[in-house]
Amino acid sequence: MKKSAYRYHQSKLKIKNIFIVIIFICLLCVTIYFHLTRIKLMIKGYGFDAQNIILSLDDEQIDEYLLYDGKIDFDMWDQVKNQKHYYDYQYYSQLYKEKSHQDIVKEIDQFYQLYERKLSTLKYDIPLCRELMKTYSIHDISNLTNYSYTYQQVKDYLKINGCIIEDIPKYIQSKKEPLEAVLSVSYPFIDSHNKVNHQYIINEPEHYLILIKKGFQISSEYVPSDLIKVNIPIAPDNTHDMLRKDAANALKQMYDDALKLNYHLVLNSGYRSYNEQKKLYDYYFTIYDEVTASGLVAIPGTSEHQLGLGVDLTSQSVIDKQRMVFGDTEEYKWVVQNAHLYGFILRYPKDRSAITGTANEPWHLRYVGKTVAKEIYDHQWTLEDYILHHGFDYHISRK
Ligand SMILES: [Zn+2]
Repeated sequence: MKKSAYRYHQSKLKIKNIFIVIIFICLLCVTIYFHLTRIKLMIKGYGFDAQNIILSLDDEQIDEYLLYDGKIDFDMWDQVKNQKHYYDYQYYSQLYKEKSHQDIVKEIDQFYQLYERKLSTLKYDIPLCRELMKTYSIHDISNLTNYSYTYQQVKDYLKINGCIIEDIPKYIQSKKEPLEAVLSVSYPFIDSHNKVNHQYIINEPEHYLILIKKGFQISSEYVPSDLIKVNIPIAPDNTHDMLRKDAANALKQMYDDALKLNYHLVLNSGYRSYNEQKKLYDYYFTIYDEVTASGLVAIPGTSEHQLGLGVDLTSQSVIDKQRMVFGDTEEYKWVVQNAHLYGFILRYPKDRSAITGTANEPWHLRYVGKTVAKEIYDHQWTLEDYILHHGFDYHISRK
């Protein structure tokens, strides 16, 4: 072969090879393009079967799996017979950690089987239902299908803390503003003029603003996690010398400032456990009739002393028997004018027993923090009035 012919042959071979490589790259690109989602799922650690399940979903649902921070554990959920709503099992289990896997799967599958279609006709889509699950149980959400109200018609009620889905028709009938409708229909006894028609459990007892009284209870198990000993003089027979940290520090500051003016405050009672409150309650019922006793001592589970935010004060003059009761002392007069500056309110004031449901207790203060204490003081409100104006700032559920 001549040299030139050889070169010609070589360059032809080179062009052919380049052409093959280009074709190969093109094919690879096309393959990646059409399997990009599968590749992404593979990178996230999903096996072939899990990939197939996810890929059989619609685009929006696939995106949820792709955007999910981490990997959903299909194998774990497959230990329970299920209908492959893996994303929701994982989502719901993170919201309700106390529920078993069996219950999670049962509730989600039932939701899709029985309620999803009806809810979508009422304009609740899945992302919206998931948002609602943060506040409402699946059982509550499924109750929305008992009515023909669309999401648009009830969304302003659903946003209110403490909204009870089964009361929604009454909210609408009341024609009141959403907050007022929810509070007056579901919680009329915030104002103790009204009868208690349901029992509620406060699910966030550590919240500083919770209202507890007849009808609004906290768990008997609740013990605040940040109790500390209050560093002020303590009445001789007092064994309850702890409060939550912020309340204890505020009380110490109040004590110090009062002392500078020659007022001698003394702690009479701070945190009391559920069992201690129960003992006290039972004791009052042995010495008084039921009506008197229930106005004098809180039902176990409704005492601010169990919150670690309720304080009974007295003064040195009472201890020394120069004064009969704290309400007659100079210290009391100073406390009435100044407690709010430290974050305390006079919880059961004179002339407000009807709304609080508790007899005048000049000695009992409640810690709510400075901002709220000032608002309550400026308006001469009770905690009940504050809730009626602002609603619940915490989660609450019907017993
Ligand atoms: Zn008290």
